[in-house]
Amino acid sequence: MAIGGTRRMVPRSEAEYMTAELTLRKCAICGMLDAQTRFRQTFAPVDGVALVNGYDVVSCNCCGFVFASGIPEQSAFDRYYREMSKYEYSQRNGRESEFDARRLDTIAAGLASRLPSTSLRIVDIGCASGRFLASLRDRGFGNIVGLDPSPACAATARRLYSVPVHTMTLGELAASGESFDVVTLIGVLEHLQDLDLAFEHLTALLPVGGLLYVEVPDVTTFADWSNAPYQDFSTEHINFFGPRSLMNLMQVHGFEPVFVEQNCREQSRRTIMSNISAMFRRESTQPASPTVRDQESVVGLQRYLTRCAVEDLLLKSRIDQLVIANRPILVWGVGTHTTRLLATSRLAEVEIVAYIESNARYHGLTLNGRPILEPTSLKQRAEPVLISSRVFQDEIVDQIRSDLRCANELILLYDV
Ligand SMILES: [Zn+2]
Repeated sequence: MAIGGTRRMVPRSEAEYMTAELTLRKCAICGMLDAQTRFRQTFAPVDGVALVNGYDVVSCNCCGFVFASGIPEQSAFDRYYREMSKYEYSQRNGRESEFDARRLDTIAAGLASRLPSTSLRIVDIGCASGRFLASLRDRGFGNIVGLDPSPACAATARRLYSVPVHTMTLGELAASGESFDVVTLIGVLEHLQDLDLAFEHLTALLPVGGLLYVEVPDVTTFADWSNAPYQDFSTEHINFFGPRSLMNLMQVHGFEPVFVEQNCREQSRRTIMSNISAMFRRESTQPASPTVRDQESVVGLQRYLTRCAVEDLLLKSRIDQLVIANRPILVWGVGTHTTRLLATSRLAEVEIVAYIESNARYHGLTLNGRPILEPTSLKQRAEPVLISSRVFQDEIVDQIRSDLRCANELILLYDV
């Protein structure tokens, strides 16, 4: 899909995305269907683009892996990423955030220092803007290619960094017969519904001895970093790894750790993301059962749930104030933050006249019966704007005041 709205997305019915029956999901690591529900996350559906309206956060009673259960099949996620991708920077008029750029450069520098040769063939799965590969190329790695199912991402990677990109799925690349020395998965594994299938494809791309570099959020340290309550259970993140679960997953598929490191990544002016950086070597084609149970992920999850419960009370009291004020407002953002609040707080009782959203894929759609407008439409509006984001609160304020030059009253949910 072209950037800049040259082709409109045809709104799809919610039913089309939800045709797959929502079933209990077996543990992607040990394969058992024996999990304990720890939390229920719910979202109000955006018309036509609902991927999930909610899910249970569960922990496997056998191996300790924490994941989302009661979600659609992988094919629904594939379609969502192809059609609704926000990773090509359409929301910033094609510009990349300074934080994304810095984060990807940091990751590239770390990986480059660990690889034995600059001639290795490297493929980055879910390459988005291509910045990470460009940063590796700047460090002497010339044999690079990206893979992204979104044509918009591929176009962005070519436009911004002249990085070659295969516009296809992981399965299509695996079937092509190409093979690589290094496969990188940065912020990918937490999105995948069918991890068995993904590893079938990954092992087709990576011969024995090949290296797999992975970055995923770290559920054991979710509670250590400030974010909006329950924001780590987003509509897109459905696997919640701790270091042990990540190692168990890899072991099951014949990969042994080279290193596993817990660290953090800067996401915005206000937000640091918990993170695991790890490299694995493909040792065999023989699957092995996980040998060590993950004890830390559930402990980290419970710590996070306790923190979120407290912070959610404060957030809900601020929403209650908006209900009492009883005046028409605009809401900026239709992502996880807003759709969760619509489903779980009194936000739906506030007189919201319209939503403003940077991702062009949503323009022309509705949320709770109200239109989703593009940012420039704010110039014609006088209502106060509720900034429904903690991660990007500061950036949105800047966009409204500096880029759009709008003087609307701004309602912030989080203390600066
Ligand atoms: Zn398990």
